[in-house]
Amino acid sequence: MNATLETNQLRQLDQQHHLHPFTDFRDYAENGGRIVSRAEHIYIYDSDGNKIQDAMSGLWCCSLGYSQDGIKQAVADQLFELPFYNNFFRCSNQPAVELATRLASMAPAHFNKVFFTNSGSEANDTQIKFVHRYYQLLDKPSKRLIISRKNAYHGSTIAAGSLGGMSAMHAQTQGLDYIHHIEQPYWFELGGDMSPDEFGLWAANELAKKIDELGEDNVAAFIAEPIQGAGGVIIPPDTYWPAVQKILDERDILFISDEVICGFGRTGNMFGFETYGTKPDLITFAKAVTNGYMPLGGSLVSDKVADVLLGHGGEFAHGLTYSGHPASCAAGLATMDVLQHTSILEESSSVLAPYFAASLASLVDHPVVGEVRCQGLVAAVELVADKASRERLAPESAGAVYTRDRAIENGLMVRQTGDAMIMSPPFVTSKAEIDALVSKLTGALDKTAAFYGLN
Ligand SMILES: *Cc1c(COP(=O)(O)O)cnc(C)c1O
Repeated sequence: MNATLETNQLRQLDQQHHLHPFTDFRDYAENGGRIVSRAEHIYIYDSDGNKIQDAMSGLWCCSLGYSQDGIKQAVADQLFELPFYNNFFRCSNQPAVELATRLASMAPAHFNKVFFTNSGSEANDTQIKFVHRYYQLLDKPSKRLIISRKNAYHGSTIAAGSLGGMSAMHAQTQGLDYIHHIEQPYWFELGGDMSPDEFGLWAANELAKKIDELGEDNVAAFIAEPIQGAGGVIIPPDTYWPAVQKILDERDILFISDEVICGFGRTGNMFGFETYGTKPDLITFAKAVTNGYMPLGGSLVSDKVADVLLGHGGEFAHGLTYSGHPASCAAGLATMDVLQHTSILEESSSVLAPYFAASLASLVDHPVVGEVRCQGLVAAVELVADKASRERLAPESAGAVYTRDRAIENGLMVRQTGDAMIMSPPFVTSKAEIDALVSKLTGALDKTAAFYGLN
């Protein structure tokens, strides 16, 4: 790296040469962005000297913060021992073996196989291939349709983007024709006059209706996040998951739980499906599996699926050069060491999460807040102009964009999705730092209320 590049030069070169993900290229080329230069504990530092509290754990991935030296050391050590070798052609490596074994031991007993990818998107692509091969091998080739939900996020490759229900993505790339979407369990936006419990049952029944419409003989799988993350931290009503599980129990359809955000402690348990009592056949993981320090994702495969895939023999025609990369797997192992062998997860779920929930709950009385949702250490604050009618502050989520920008100015990194402010703070955040988070967010909400004349 060139140590002499000044911030302004960096910013200029960035604008000239670097295309950023989910970004308006023209706007970025004109206005540029923030150069993040270093991070420590739960703070990021930019090249202008700003210190910003990270209430998003990077992009939902740095759950243990930025100062886990054990993970950094494990990666460095691994790079010196074996920086790379592939897992094709009857080769394997120790970190991949150990991480597969570890993840299998952490999942329910009937999960014993792991396939590694570099990302959540690739992991969900892999799930589609598993599901299709499973039913081909069972001689049920008509079972190939996959049901997902509107406003779900399952990644951004063509297949993962098709699984997702993000309308902006579908508008730019035609989705795969074998993927169908049902309504999401987003009570605040869609519930109307129904109680949350009534709406949860209604939304679950959308799955049964869609299976009937498509024909059970044609449907292979249902994929869902326990809590929709990128869609706006949509925590389903309590009635939703039990009703969905009942529908799945009564039918021959595989269930893929996309744990890319909810996995590894985010909702208070190791996996999100444990929080909601669902019974997946396939589990997608990524993000926090390495605490965000190295790219890694994958699929955990239940015995039900693995027995068919292994029982019939024949090559599984799928793989990535870096599947089971030794340095990424070393990062995963070191991350599991922290999650399983320190008290961080236990303390975050028993002490910090209730404190976070109680602190955020106080925002409900704020003039521009319509609802606060929280589960474990993931939360959303819905912004409204009118609490009763749930009318929004401004078209195209401009009110929430305004709040987000004021929060970042106040030194708090939060994200805006639709009209919600969303958060997933690191598990190592202290109570005092939760107080700071809420106070900075309140400052941004106050400015928003003043801007829209609602204070
Ligand atoms: C981020 C995310 C993905 C995609 O993971 P990438 O590593 O960005 O490809 C998939 N599913 C969910 C639920 C996610 O949040």
